[in-house]
Amino acid sequence: MESMPGQLRDAGRDASSSPSSKQDAQGFSGPGSLKPNQVSETSLYGVPIVSLVIDGKERLCLAQISNTLLKNYSYNEIHNRRVALGITCVQCTPVQLELLRRAGAMPISSRRCGMITKREAERLCKSFLGAHTPPKLPENFAFDVCHDCAWGCRGSFIPARYNSSRAKCIKCSFCNMYFSPNKFIFHSHRTTESKYLQPDAANFNSWRRHLKLTDTQSDDINHAWEDVKAMFNGGSRKRTLPMSTVTVFIYIDVHVSP
Ligand SMILES: [Zn+2]
Repeated sequence: MESMPGQLRDAGRDASSSPSSKQDAQGFSGPGSLKPNQVSETSLYGVPIVSLVIDGKERLCLAQISNTLLKNYSYNEIHNRRVALGITCVQCTPVQLELLRRAGAMPISSRRCGMITKREAERLCKSFLGAHTPPKLPENFAFDVCHDCAWGCRGSFIPARYNSSRAKCIKCSFCNMYFSPNKFIFHSHRTTESKYLQPDAANFNSWRRHLKLTDTQSDDINHAWEDVKAMFNGGSRKRTLPMSTVTVFIYIDVHVSP
């Protein structure tokens, strides 16, 4: 049995009073044991993923992993890779499915869900995302970034928080709120020195073009920035939305600084 001390904080919660499922018969006892059907949350590549104890092992919901960390990959790609890695899914019971739904791991409509151990989940994700691990940067490093869309904005891009294409990894320098790169280029503040620039063909996939480092940086930082921009770019298709550009910018979240 795998021991993950960090995941055991919820172990005090009493889940032993549900004698219905098969797993209960094989429940482990003793201090720090994992209780059957115990729901908790674990972190995979920095993304919170629901876990469920099945047969004494903490297992993660493959559907949730597919919809978050691996959402740029197709069902077939994920399935084939999983099989190639020799990772076997355990299908959950209807009771377990309901627990997973309530925990928000999967949509109500899902009828089945395969569960894999955390170690297997890490292997699977690494096989897809391993090549795209963030470059080595100092702890708490942030890129100073800016964009000129609409009234423009400045912020800190925190690579440690950039664990999916939608991660809120940019902190606005004006309002301190966090945005994903896609959203940040549509976020701007009107300041006394800012000039309104009608954005050209900005759309939700174009942040890599619009978001720039604020100052000229060392080669190392420039390279790291290019590496970071290359992350989570695999599955996105280039789309041009010339007609929608104008519409989109009517809804820009413009704040007027005092
Ligand atoms: Zn702001």
